[in-house]
Amino acid sequence: MADGIPKVPGSELLGRSLDELCAVAREVGLPAYAGTQMARWIYVRGTASFDLMTDLPRRVRRDLATRHDIGIRPPARCVVSADGTRKYLFGGNAGGWVETVWIPDRGRSTLCVSTQAGCRMGCRFCHTARQRFAGHLSAGAMLNQLTGLPERPAVDNVVFMGMGEPLDNLDEVLRALRAMSADWGLAMSPRRLTVSTVGLLPAMDRLLQESDCHVAISLHSPFSEERASLMPVERTHPIREVVARLRRYEWRGQRRLMFEYIVFGGFNDTPRHVRELCRLLHGLPCRINLMRYHPRPDQRWPATEEGRLLAFETALRAKGFRTTIRRSRGQDIAAACGQLSTLAVVEDEPPPSSRSGMIVGHGGSSGGTVA
Ligand code: SF4
Repeated sequence: MADGIPKVPGSELLGRSLDELCAVAREVGLPAYAGTQMARWIYVRGTASFDLMTDLPRRVRRDLATRHDIGIRPPARCVVSADGTRKYLFGGNAGGWVETVWIPDRGRSTLCVSTQAGCRMGCRFCHTARQRFAGHLSAGAMLNQLTGLPERPAVDNVVFMGMGEPLDNLDEVLRALRAMSADWGLAMSPRRLTVSTVGLLPAMDRLLQESDCHVAISLHSPFSEERASLMPVERTHPIREVVARLRRYEWRGQRRLMFEYIVFGGFNDTPRHVRELCRLLHGLPCRINLMRYHPRPDQRWPATEEGRLLAFETALRAKGFRTTIRRSRGQDIAAACGQLSTLAVVEDEPPPSSRSGMIVGHGGSSGGTVA
C-alpha cells in the first residue's frame, strides 16, 4: 500500500472529481485550490505517493497519507504476445483480478480496460462469463488500468471492452469517463474513448446523454432467437429495442456508432443475415466491425474461415454498410476478443492486496482487436 499505512476502504483519491479533491483539501486545512494541485499530481503526473507532492506542506502530506490512498498501483503481472500486445493483470478493488490489454499498432496504441471482476451477462462465447462474478470495479480501479500502466504516455485510445459489461456498472464508468476527459483529469478527447455494451436499457440512454464517447453495441446476430442463443441478455434487452432507442440520437457528428459482430463460420454469416442486418440497421449511420471468433474448447461453433469472412464483408459492403474486419491481437496470450479471464489466477494466486511488484512473462495464452 502506498505510504505503508492501511487506509479505510473507499479512501482512494484516483477517480475523484475536482470538486471532491477540493473537499479533501479543505478536510486537511488547505485552501480549496489545493485540490487542483492534487488533481495535477494524481491525473497529470500519475504520482503514486503523497511524499512526492512537494508543493503541499509536509504536515499536510502526512495527514493525507493517514486518511487516504492515492489508488495508483502497478500491475501484478504482464504477458507479452509475439505481436507486441501486452496483457496486464491488475488487482481490482472488488476483491478479484482483472485483465487489461495494451495493443500497439502502427505507431499508435489502444488500451482495453475492464469494468468488472467477472461479468453477469453470460455470453456463451466469452471466457469472462465462465468465471465467478467478483464485483464492480470502482472508477479508480478502472483509471488505474491506465495510470498504473508502464505504457501510459503512449496510449492514444481507451476502449471499455475488457472484462465486464460497462453499463452494468454505469455510475463508476461515467465517473471514470469524466476523469479521463476533464481538463482537470487526463484531458483526453471523448473521441479517443469508446464504451462497448450489450445494450442495457435504460442505462444506454444515460450513457449517451452524459458522455460524448463513441459507442459500440455487441450485435452478433440480427435474429432474436439466434442472438439469445449467444447472448442471454437478448431476452430482456432485445436488439430491436436497442436499435430503436439508438435512432433517437444524432449520429452524424463526431460521435461514432459501431456494431460489433463476431463471425461464427456458417452460423451468422449467411445471405439471410445480410438481408436482416439491412432491415434492422436501415438508414442508421454506423459501422459494423467484424471480428474473428476465438473458439473455446467446450463450444460448438467453429473458427471462422478467412474466405467466408471476406465474402460476408463484401456482401455487407454491397448493401452500403461501412465495415471493418478487426485484426485479432494477442491471441497467443489469450488477450484477443472474448478470451479474457482470470479464472486460473483466481484459483492459483493470493488476493490482490497481498501482492506487489510486477512479473513479466512471454507467452502462450486476452480483448485485443484493432482495425
Ligand atoms: S462478452 Fe462482454 S458482456 Fe458478454 S459475458 Fe463477456 S465480458 Fe460480459
